[in-house]
Amino acid sequence: MRPRLKDVVWERMGDELTLVFDQRSPLVVSDVDGRMETLLGLLRRGDHTVPELAAQLSTAGPEVSAEDVHGIVAALDGHRLVEDADRLGRYTGGVHDRHYSNLAFFETFATLERSREDLLDSARGAHVLVLGTGGLNSNTVPHLAGLGVGRLTLADRDVVESKNFARQYLYTWRDLGHSKVKAAGAWVQRFDPDIDVSTRELDVRGSEDVARLLDETRPDLVMSGIDSPRGVDLWVNEACVSRGVPFVRGGMGVSTAGVWSVVPSVSACRMCLELADPTNGELDLSPGTDDAHTDAARRLYESKPRVNRGIGALAGLLGSYAAFECLRLLTGFETPQYAGSLLTINLTDGCSTTLQEWERRPDCPACGSAATAPSALAQVVGEPSGSSAPSVDSPSSSRQPLGV
Ligand SMILES: [Zn+2]
Repeated sequence: MRPRLKDVVWERMGDELTLVFDQRSPLVVSDVDGRMETLLGLLRRGDHTVPELAAQLSTAGPEVSAEDVHGIVAALDGHRLVEDADRLGRYTGGVHDRHYSNLAFFETFATLERSREDLLDSARGAHVLVLGTGGLNSNTVPHLAGLGVGRLTLADRDVVESKNFARQYLYTWRDLGHSKVKAAGAWVQRFDPDIDVSTRELDVRGSEDVARLLDETRPDLVMSGIDSPRGVDLWVNEACVSRGVPFVRGGMGVSTAGVWSVVPSVSACRMCLELADPTNGELDLSPGTDDAHTDAARRLYESKPRVNRGIGALAGLLGSYAAFECLRLLTGFETPQYAGSLLTINLTDGCSTTLQEWERRPDCPACGSAATAPSALAQVVGEPSGSSAPSVDSPSSSRQPLGV
């Protein structure tokens, strides 16, 4: 291991150094004799092991032990200011240029244990099954492709229609009437020929259709954007949970949009929410209520024909949140934020967000006693972060079914 300082600059103020990678989180360290600054200079080069660093520092004064240097390096790693140079250097030339900003993004989250290149490798080695290439996923596919996800399987049943053009930018006017999924696959191939993309004409009529596709393609993650028929989320949930495959889902109502995910054996699943409130035909964390007017509002809303109000800016926003959750699940750069939780974006107050967690149910037929063994990905990502999630019991005045 050869620790290397990230893109850190510093300035001396008396006996202290102020180190900055991100201006939001400067680090002040003591440096009375100047040897900390010498160490930082050596770490910037990233070509010394810890014992070699100790030997170098010892030439200019009292002996410094390898344990001392190890402690300083560990402290810097705790502030995510160092990587292991031995875990860097695989991305060179054109591949480095292609992933320049991806690598720079991952630098922020890299540690001695997992370098920016390790994090990017996780994405590039991953296979994502994209269910539906409509409003939501025509806004997640470009993000997954930009990240360089190595393999994409796209599935859809529809043809391109003129009403898609408000938000589905993978398609052009020339694609009207033609297979949506083939056009989406062609877009990915044009965007980056290194991505292994395949397409499936798929009409989902039950969980077994999703299960069969999972068995045939064996993805690491499902990005689900199918919104019909009613109940399709439970089919996707059943198939994914039974096979230990995490999935991400997003959708919109009238004045809200939302994103959620399920990590089998780690988070609550979609069926857990259904058990808590069987009236939840479509995802909504509004608590059940005896208020007659609220019940009437729900019933009346559900009696209306569905109108897709998704404009491009909204679908793009939702697609970005969903793609970010995919990125968390694929790389583990941070824990999934929406596992068993609904992130709601309120469109009527400047796009403020709230996060509501729903409870895992021991009696859930999908993830309870019949739960499958944890998937490899679930083990990688660990427990979801739910510390800031408000209770599902939080009162909510409006019901907003989600669909794209
Ligand atoms: Zn469940």
